[in-house]
Amino acid sequence: MALSRSEQMSRIRGRDTSPERLLRSALWRAGLRFRLHARTPHGRPDVVFPKLKVAVFIDGCFWHGCPEHYVRPRTRDEFWSSKLQENVRRDRRQTLLLEEEGWRVCRFWEHQVFESLQVLVEYVRHALRDEAWSALSSWRVVQVTPLAGEGDMEERWMEDLRNADAKHSTVVRRSTKKWKRP
Ligand SMILES: [Zn+2]
Repeated sequence: MALSRSEQMSRIRGRDTSPERLLRSALWRAGLRFRLHARTPHGRPDVVFPKLKVAVFIDGCFWHGCPEHYVRPRTRDEFWSSKLQENVRRDRRQTLLLEEEGWRVCRFWEHQVFESLQVLVEYVRHALRDEAWSALSSWRVVQVTPLAGEGDMEERWMEDLRNADAKHSTVVRRSTKKWKRP
């Protein structure tokens, strides 16, 4: 039987090391049983526990504005800022809508899957089993403005995932610390 293109690609790459795949197999090994990309009333999270109403999303560090790894592209400031803001707004809307309907929403950064996988598994386990679980706050970069005449300094604006009114900004040297998969 002929292999599909994606099957060929995964043979070439060896194994699928996407963050989604890594998290799913760690959850599975921990005995947690879930559904993949199941529908919820508000989108398809990466991992869903439909009965217990727990949804897990893995957010890419660049596209979703990770405070540690978002790197401002050198050109088209306005385009990238509006893209970021759009993504953060979408993440916020989806998270709040699910939470209003009694879902527990776990949002992890891509880099956390590689750096602290077991911590994430425990966090999901708590979300599933612990009455007292509450979501961690999560800062998101929404805009980065280069400062004129300041060398490579830039002002980074951040908002809370769940609360657009919670904002702060810091002035830092332009980050070039892009997240790379190990
Ligand atoms: Zn990151």
